Amino acid sequence: MTEEPEDAAEVTWAVVGRDVMCGVCVALRRQRGLAIQEYDRSREVDLRVLTRRHMREQHGQELPFPW
Ligand SMILES: [Zn+2]
Repeated sequence: MTEEPEDAAEVTWAVVGRDVMCGVCVALRRQRGLAIQEYDRSREVDLRVLTRRHMREQHGQELPFPW
């Protein structure tokens, strides 16, 4: 399983639209964007799973599905 991004250590909070995102969220989203650009489907799916789990564990929030 993929580790969480290294720059997750610098926790910054950002409000993106109606979502409150921490540094991990931002890093995951950025990496997922890169995976999509590179048509790397398996990495994209991995990052989705990581993001969903992170949202559940760290933010107590279930992402709507499909997301
Ligand atoms: Zn987060």
